[in-house]
Formats: sequence, C-alpha cells, structure tokens
Amino acid sequence: PVPAASGAPAPAAREGAGQPLVQLKDVNKHFGDLHVLRNINLEVRKGEVVVVIGPSGSGKSTLCRAINRLETIDDGEILIDGTRLPSEGKQLARLRADVGMVFQSFNLFAHKSILENVTLGPVKVKGTKPAAAKELAMSLLKRVGVDNQAGKLPAQLSGGQQQRVAIARALAMKPKVMLFDEPTSALDPEMINEVLDTMVGLAKEGMTMIVVTHEMGFARKAADRVIFMADGQIVEQATPEEFFTNPKSERARDFLGKIL
Ligand code: ADP
Ligand code: MG
Repeated sequence: PVPAASGAPAPAAREGAGQPLVQLKDVNKHFGDLHVLRNINLEVRKGEVVVVIGPSGSGKSTLCRAINRLETIDDGEILIDGTRLPSEGKQLARLRADVGMVFQSFNLFAHKSILENVTLGPVKVKGTKPAAAKELAMSLLKRVGVDNQAGKLPAQLSGGQQQRVAIARALAMKPKVMLFDEPTSALDPEMINEVLDTMVGLAKEGMTMIVVTHEMGFARKAADRVIFMADGQIVEQATPEEFFTNPKSERARDFLGKIL
C-alpha cells in the first residue's frame, strides 16, 4: 500500500532499458535487535547492471539473499518481473530459477562432475530432458571457457574455473536476473580477471545484473549504476563515473578513501 519511489531518484538507465525487473519496496529486515535492511527501495530495470558497494556488515549479502528468498524479510515487498516471491513450495523453486545467484565461495556440488553441476538444476527443477540439458550445459561451459573440463570434479579446477562453472550453472536455469555476491573476493589475484571478463561479457549481452563487488574496474566498465550501502541503508546512488570521482556522502568518501 506504499508508493514505490522514495529516496534519491535513480539516474536514467541506458537507452533501451526496459521494465522494472526487480523491485524492492520499503524492505526491512532484522536479525534480532540488528536492523540490517532499513527501508530499502530499489528498482532494477531489464538489462540494467547495478553494482552494490559498501563496508563489510552493511547488508549487501542480506540484500542479495532476500531478493532470492534465501532470507525472509520482516516487511515491505520484493517483486521479480512484477511477481511477488511466494514463501515456499514449487512456485518458489520456479521463481527462484528466475534469479541466478553466484556466491563468493563457488558452492559447486563437490561430488558431481562439472557437467552434472550444470545439468542438475534444469533437469530437477525445470524438467528439462537430460540430453537437452547436456547440450545446453556444454554450450554454457564453452561460453565461460571451461568446456574442456566437463568430466572433472570441482576440486580439480582452479578457483577461477570453478567460479566460471558457477556462472554457467546459474545461467543454465535461464534466469531473468543474475545476482553476484563478491564473486571474485575468494580468488587469487591472477584469476580475478577471467571471472570479471565473463561477467562483462554477460553485461554486454544485456543480462540484468546486481553485482556486489569492490572491483572498480568492473563497475566502470559494466555498471549503469552504483549503489552505496552503509548500515543497512542505500546511502547514495549514481553512475560509476559520478560515484567514484565525486561521492556525495561523507560515508562514501570515507569508504572510498579506504579501498582506493
Ligand atoms: P555485508 O554483506 O554487507 O558484509 P551482511 O548482509 O552479510 O553484510 O550482514 C549485515 C549484518 O547482518 C552484519 O552485521 C552481520 O553480522 C549480520 N548478519 C548477517 N547474517 C546474519 C545471521 N544469519 N544472523 C545474525 N546476524 C546476521
Ligand atoms: Mg557480504
């Protein structure tokens, strides 16, 4: 019953960007006494790439997890492509498939091959036939550059390769939006770029993305908008250029001073 917009207006999305695909309206979340998401209002349009940045503990992961319903919210609402996420059941599984998620720790199934990691979701959740799932998986593994590793187990791959498999696995569900929660922060430095390049490629193809990262190169290359969070609130949002060169809030200036 509350109007959608509040707080700072979002900068204009790039031309041709479409309907709101992800909408958060007055979302609040507590962990006990801790108010981790404070009245979050956020709209991400189709094809838009939003980078979320902010100090540790500011609620970035909780925000991602709430969008995917891995975390419940206390009040407010979250819509994916205009539909409210149901709280449980088959419908939740189906809607969750619309939201691909890539975590900091790759979270692959350790005892399944790379290929099975990518075919499992489509077969189990979407009812895709195994042969079709395999074909799709191989084309996605090729796209992220690890198709020659399909028969191996996750532990036999480098961190960068595993993270690219995780991206392929998420894409196999044909999500409408992809969430990335610090996808490169557990990687050795020499592997960061191979993952970021894959993500830049996705962005260029028009995937709608919400990316928690402190990789400014990625933000400058791929983001339409940077959102700065602190203490559970969206403190500031701007284009990457604007945000990195001329942050408006004291909190953002202070934070950038520490990471730059
Ligand atoms: P960020 O990803 O920005 O570092 P998080 O969303 O992980 O922040 O955490 C926000 C706050 O919520 C932190 O203070 C964190 O300790 C707390 N928190 C996160 N998950 C839980 C949980 N399951 N139970 C209790 N507190 C939590
Ligand atoms: Mg986090």
